[in-house]
Amino acid sequence: MKLILLGPPGAGKGTQAKMLVQELGIPQISTGDMLREAVKAGSPMGMKAKTYMDSGELVPDEVVVGIVEERIQQPDCADGFMLDGFPRTTAQADALTEMLEKKGLAIDHVICIQVDNDELIRRLSGRRTCRNCMAPYHVEFNPPQKEGVCDKCGGELYQRDDDREEAIRARLKTYDAQTRPLIEYYEQRGLLRPVDGSGRVEEVFGRIRQVLR
Ligand code: AMP
Repeated sequence: MKLILLGPPGAGKGTQAKMLVQELGIPQISTGDMLREAVKAGSPMGMKAKTYMDSGELVPDEVVVGIVEERIQQPDCADGFMLDGFPRTTAQADALTEMLEKKGLAIDHVICIQVDNDELIRRLSGRRTCRNCMAPYHVEFNPPQKEGVCDKCGGELYQRDDDREEAIRARLKTYDAQTRPLIEYYEQRGLLRPVDGSGRVEEVFGRIRQVLR
C-alpha cells in the first residue's frame, strides 16, 4: 500500500505514521526527519535546509523531491510506503505522480488529518522529540515516564527549533499558503480520505484504520 499522510504541522502525522508502520509493515518516509538527519550530519544539503527549516519555510522542491526519489528506490519500499510530510506543494505532488508513473505505480490513499489551529499550537508548543530515535512526546498529553528521557531508547528529549512560538506561526502560514491546496488536488483525483485528528492518539488511529478498511 502506498499512502500519503497530509495535514498541518502538529496534526499528528508522525505519531500516526509510527503506529501505522507497526500495523502495515511498510516504512515511514518522513522528509522532515531526513532533513533533520542531514542537518545533524552537517552535510552541505543539511546546512542549506536548516535556514529554511528554522524560519518555518519550505526547503526548495528540487531538494526534497530528490531525497524522496532516492528513498523510494530502496528495497524496503517494494511493497509500499507511507509518506509523512511529503508532498507539501503542488509541484512536489506532480513530481511524485511522475516518479511513480515511471515505475507503473500510484498512490492508494491520501489520509488528511484535520485539527483546528488552537489545538495545533497547543500540541506544537508542548512537543518534545527524541534526539536519537525521533519518537514524539508532549509535556502534557503524552509525557515520558522520566522527564527529558525517551521511554523507547533512553535518548535525550529536546524541543525542535521550529517548535518555538514564532516558527510555529510561520509554519502554519506556510501550510495554508502552500500545502492546503493539496487537499483539493487529491480530492479531484478521488484519493482524499479526511480523518478527524482531534482527541487521543488511539482514537485517531482507530479512525485511520477504518478508512483503510
Ligand atoms: P516536519 O518535521 O514535517 O514538520 O518538517 C520540518 C521542516 O522541514 C518543515 O517546516 C520544512 O522546512 C522542511 N520540510 C519537511 N518536509 C518538506 C517538504 N516536503 N518540502 C519542503 N520542506 C519540507
